[in-house]
Amino acid sequence: MKQSQLFTKTQKESPADEISKNAELLIKGGFIHKEMAGVYSFLPLGLRVINKIETIIREEMNQIGGVEMRTTAFQNKEVWEKSNRWDDEVVDVWFKTALKNGGEIGLSFTNEEAYANMLKQYIQSYKDLPMYPYDFKTIFRNETRSKSGIMRGREFYWKALYSFSKDNAEHAAFYEKAKEAYKKIFKRAGIGHLTYTTFASGGSFSKFSHEFQTVSGAGEDTIYVDEAKGIAINKEVYNDEVLADLGVDKANVVEQRAIEVGNIFSLGTKFSTPFNLTYKNETGDDVEVVMGSYGIGLGRLMGTIVEVLSDDKGIIWPESVAPFKVHMLALGESENVKEKANELYELLSKKNIEVLFDDRAGVMAGEKFADADLLGMPYRVVVSERSLKDGGYEIKKRTEDKGKIVTEQELLSMLEN
Ligand code: ATP
Ligand code: MG
Repeated sequence: MKQSQLFTKTQKESPADEISKNAELLIKGGFIHKEMAGVYSFLPLGLRVINKIETIIREEMNQIGGVEMRTTAFQNKEVWEKSNRWDDEVVDVWFKTALKNGGEIGLSFTNEEAYANMLKQYIQSYKDLPMYPYDFKTIFRNETRSKSGIMRGREFYWKALYSFSKDNAEHAAFYEKAKEAYKKIFKRAGIGHLTYTTFASGGSFSKFSHEFQTVSGAGEDTIYVDEAKGIAINKEVYNDEVLADLGVDKANVVEQRAIEVGNIFSLGTKFSTPFNLTYKNETGDDVEVVMGSYGIGLGRLMGTIVEVLSDDKGIIWPESVAPFKVHMLALGESENVKEKANELYELLSKKNIEVLFDDRAGVMAGEKFADADLLGMPYRVVVSERSLKDGGYEIKKRTEDKGKIVTEQELLSMLEN
């Protein structure tokens, strides 16, 4: 993409009303637009990041047997009354609206009821199970705290998978697979080294749930990390009994602030019971389905990447989620540079290397460099009179201070793998 065609612009000043680093950098870079507190639009660059994160999550969910669909945001009052979660006294984050012809509908703040209600129609016999449907979806929550930028929105985009298993053993086996898939997702997204599988409160059906907590000062949670064991315990369940239970020594843990980027939860029959979600087993008896839920907020994950992988100049995107692999800058107004830069842009595009081409005329080199640092593509390639005179193009990784001059062939072999 040519930057001259990108309608967004970077801004030098930090937004006055944002205290979180992720919102500040993402707004300055033109990745997102703030509509109001806790509500953001994703601009072309931001959408490219979300789409890449979505692809990673989709691949890993499909790998463990997930089957994708798309569920509606509108929620049926009668369905939610079955589990007693329609009442605002019970759930305080609902957005609801009155229908013109009477009655009320809600906007999804989560999916358990809708899935249990829908899947009931497709689960009759043991032969129908297990089942692992999931979807990407916009979720609405009337959150009171909205100081964490896109990490806590009133509207946010998530992936939720629900598992429907015949019994606890089948559920437990899938739960472990999902845990491994989650580790892969965060590793692929570039934050694996900072993200801990964390024991958290499990609700009424299991002792623990698992959160995936990324260590960051911007986090809202407190966790206790056992680095050697590679696990952590959320403060909400941290006590001597749990430590003993998990074989963790108090002397080996460090208290950290962390961001919950995802979580997995055993639901037991909490929703199967109110929805009468049963199947006939091999001897013809009715047995309740065992459910699990597996969520990831894509905006939360994107914001977390920005929080933990940036420097004083801007964002440092991991290649896997960067909007473009290469930010190519044409410097100066000479026709020769323009021609060579255009040729290189065509060549890289033909090789399917994603390039953002800063072809803007009348923009000084210093400004282009500053924008490249702010926007954070993994590679910066400079085409200038000087680079051409020195024998080619200058390539520099976002994480390096100095670049080097390479020939076209060298450039291609560096970028192609
Ligand atoms: P938190 O404890 O941070 O409020 P939660 O426990 O309510 O989160 P879930 O309902 O389990 O979260 O949602 C699953 C995932 O959705 C979370 O792990 C997180 O990644 C994401 N998420 C939750 N709330 C928000 C939000 N307001 N904005 C963006 N992402 C969110
Ligand atoms: Mg939570």
